[in-house]
Amino acid sequence: MMTSTPLAFPIATPARRSLLDMDQAALADFLAELGQPSFRARQVWDWIYKRCAGDFETMSNLPKELRAQLAATATVTPLTLVAEVVAHDRDTVKALFQLHDGQTIEAVLMLYDARRTLCISSQAGCAMGCTFCATAQGGLARNLTPGEIVAQVLYFARYLADPALPPDTSAERPTTITNIVLMGMGEPLHNYANVWTALHRLTAPDAFGLGARHITLSTVGLAPMIDRMADEGIQIGLAVSLHAPNDVLRTQLVPINKGYPVDEVLAAVRRYVAKTNRRVTFEYALMAGINDTPELAQEMAGKLQDILCHVNLIPLNPIPDSPFQPTSNEATARFAQILRDAGVATTVRLRRGIEINAGCGQLRRAAIAKTDRG
Ligand code: SAH
Repeated sequence: MMTSTPLAFPIATPARRSLLDMDQAALADFLAELGQPSFRARQVWDWIYKRCAGDFETMSNLPKELRAQLAATATVTPLTLVAEVVAHDRDTVKALFQLHDGQTIEAVLMLYDARRTLCISSQAGCAMGCTFCATAQGGLARNLTPGEIVAQVLYFARYLADPALPPDTSAERPTTITNIVLMGMGEPLHNYANVWTALHRLTAPDAFGLGARHITLSTVGLAPMIDRMADEGIQIGLAVSLHAPNDVLRTQLVPINKGYPVDEVLAAVRRYVAKTNRRVTFEYALMAGINDTPELAQEMAGKLQDILCHVNLIPLNPIPDSPFQPTSNEATARFAQILRDAGVATTVRLRRGIEINAGCGQLRRAAIAKTDRG
């Protein structure tokens, strides 16, 4: 059972100046052009990132004329919600957003026990071409701006803070986002600069202020970019989508492996761990008869022996027109056991969100198909 708003596609509107794409200096310049004193920038900044204001009207300490002027020329909500799907137990909420140019992206809120984890997109589409992934099928449309990345977080921060939403099921209804994962659409390290600008905004104490330890970036394994990450001032969690322990198989599933083979990726991960002292996660989507055999589990265990890591086994989310099917529970348990017996910490991730098409790119794909059919 699920509830869904109808998929209606608003006509794309020309971009208003998104204040989310400005740093503090740019915001100050923008407000100065409107004849405002310098302290206004700080006020607007706090409304955006500290109080997650969804419009200018709520910015009550700004003069009325300025609010009207800002509403006419600028925006703090560059995303338009076009579809929202809520799982029947209300613990997963998926949103499809339209950007100003008509592109669409997804974000998924997962309400785990004490955590409220938000999965966000870094690109509209993706250029990596993973053969089992719904997002890959349409290719890359474009990079998201830092503001479009941060806007997904601010949208759900407002969602959780809204007393009317989500429909209440528990006395301990969560009201803030506790964790962010960059595991939505796109390859975050293929949009490096914008992603890092967004990450700085999300972690800066004078902006959104979420601890870097609560953020995880998932990459297909662009090795040189992993090295670059290790040198950033803020050290967020790293997850690497491995899916196969050798080049022959991995290249079939993750074609970018041709450029960044398994051993190169693992070498970059070792350097990352050495520099940051942080445990890395390897993601492995189990596909029946493809990458789920005991031999591959052994090979995987051998490759990861000396790495401070953790393996996340994900039952494949089957996508339409794809030859790949999810592994059985038995094969999943067997694969996990071999890794554990070899001393590799392993968990099997819940198939959360499958019911609501929360797998990578699936809601967007369904919406595009529907639009194509008219
Ligand atoms: N580009 C990044 C992040 C986006 S996808 C990356 O590759 O890591 C987030 C995770 O979902 C990746 O591990 C990806 O391989 C996985 N994934 C994609 N399609 C999937 C599917 N159909 N079933 C299960 N996992 C999938």
